[in-house]
Order: sequence, then C-alpha cells, then structure tokens
Amino acid sequence: MSNNFKPAYRKKKIVMSTSVKVIIILLAVLVVTLLAFLIKVTFSKALDPNIVYPPDDTEEFSAAPHTDAPAVTDEEDPGIKIRAVDKSKFDTKTGSLVLVNKDTAYTLPKTEQLVNLYDALHENFTLATISESLTRDAYDALCKMCNAYAERTGYCPLMVTSGYRDEEQQKEFYDNYVVNESDKAYVELPRYSDHHTGLAFDMKLYEKDGSSYSYGRYATERASWLVENHKYYGFIMRYPANKGAVTGIEGESNHFRYVGVPHSVFIEENNICLEEYLTFIKNYTYTEPLKITVNNDDYCVWYCGGNSVYIPKEEEYTVSGDNLGGYIVAVKL
Ligand SMILES: [Zn+2]
Repeated sequence: MSNNFKPAYRKKKIVMSTSVKVIIILLAVLVVTLLAFLIKVTFSKALDPNIVYPPDDTEEFSAAPHTDAPAVTDEEDPGIKIRAVDKSKFDTKTGSLVLVNKDTAYTLPKTEQLVNLYDALHENFTLATISESLTRDAYDALCKMCNAYAERTGYCPLMVTSGYRDEEQQKEFYDNYVVNESDKAYVELPRYSDHHTGLAFDMKLYEKDGSSYSYGRYATERASWLVENHKYYGFIMRYPANKGAVTGIEGESNHFRYVGVPHSVFIEENNICLEEYLTFIKNYTYTEPLKITVNNDDYCVWYCGGNSVYIPKEEEYTVSGDNLGGYIVAVKL
C-alpha cells in the first residue's frame, strides 16, 4: 500500500513542469522563426543584384550640428527633397545677393572671374571706357536684357559707364567725386561700394546720333521699357529715391545691380531695397519658404543662417551668400 502512495504535491509538480516545457518550446520555435526571417531579409537585401542602393551620404550631415532646423536628410514640404550641406562648402561673399553698403565692407573673392566688357563687347550695348568689367552672371544677364531691348525697339541705347571697381579705383573715384560735403550722400568709401561686387553698373543712354544723357526713370519711352523690364533679367535699381535712410545712398536712378531672378522681381514689385529684402527673407525656411511667381514660373526661396545650407536634391537652384554670414537658396519648381 505504501508503494502505491504518491503524495499529492509530487503529482502536481510533474503537471506544472510539462506546461512550462510546452511554453519554452513554443517560445524557442518563435525565436528561431524570427531569427530565420531576419537572416533571410538581411541576405536578400545584401545580395539582390536587381536593387540599386543609394550611397550612404550620412557623412555629409555629420560634419556639424544643425542649429537652424532639425537634423533631417529628407523633407517633403513643400514637395522638395532637401539635402543639408555644411556651410563651409559655400562662401558667404559669393553670389548675386551679397550686401555691400556703408556698414558692410566687401572684397571680391579671388575665385570670382570677371568679364572685361570691351573684350566681350556686345552689339546691343556700348561702353564709356574700355576697362569696364562685370561678373559672368551679371554680364550674361545684361546681354539678354539688351537683346530683348533691341528686339523690341530696334535699338538699345544702354551705355555702361562704370562696372566693377577695386578699392584703389574706388578711392580715386571718391576723391574726385567729393567736392562738397553733400556729395558724400551719393558715393561710398573704398571697401564699402556696391561696385566692388562686379554685379553693379552705372549707365547712360546713348543715342544713334552720338548724344548721351544720364538715365532717369521715365526719361524717354525707351527708358520706360527698361524701368518695366529690368527686373525680369535679374536687375534692380539698387538705390531707390525713397530708401536713402536704409541704403545709405540717396536715390541714384542710374545704378543697376544684378541680384538674379526671382529676387529682382520680388524686390521691385514690393518697392523694397536689397537691405530690406535680406532682412525679410530671414523669416523663411526650407519648411516654410517664400513663394514667388515670375510669369509662369514658380520659385521657393528660403534663408539658412545656421551651420547647414539646405538645398534641393533634384530641382534647379541657386545659393547666394549675403556677406553677413547667411545664405539664400532659390529653387525653380
Ligand atoms: Zn554706381
């Protein structure tokens, strides 16, 4: 009788052990299945010859911490895929929007190539001297504008009287120009002249009979074409008559400055000057850009003030420094 006796507690223990074993086996099967799945996925990705994997460009984003926006590599707003590039790859003194005024000095970077206008003389504009020069972008835009002018009116009377000036030339110009104290309202000291950018020129109108006169708004029918249309070629009137307190120069209707489209159109249509535009654009980021429409073309423009410059991955774009440490990106959609 004693041999058949099995304590209740021993029987119970055997039943519990079986349950635990079943659970352990089920868990083991689950883990093995998961491992097998992960191994299959990993190997199929690594070995699949039909898939082209994009290069790992994370290194480009690790150069510096981002302070002006989240450290992301892809954004869909506003439908533009964005890439962050360290700002050291750009030069804040290069581009069509560099600011030079009485408070902001500037020296043209040595990397910037100038076009001598006499060597490259264009049939649709004339020169006051043989030594005028501009940057390539400003020269190309000037040619396009003068071609359009000539096409519409039969003759383009535009004469470039003063393009790029280095510091020495500006000093000479300043010393000759300033006779009375009041003259200082129309000319900058060396290092502070818009003419150092190679993006600016003064102009006169030159008629077929050899007469020439200073350009002024609404001076002639031909000049009015220029007033209406220069913005479409990337030019602004750098010193509007009512902005002397901001620009430091009283109205100077013969001083044109290349800033590029669409900036030129926005500046002119809103009656602001370059200083005001560069302040205004700081409110716009790549996630919430300024939208500008020029004829049928749409653009997005934004400012980058941190350690990264945010540029589109696919769309056509320009980047310009502002000579103040920031960058402005313009994207054509
Ligand atoms: Zn000028």
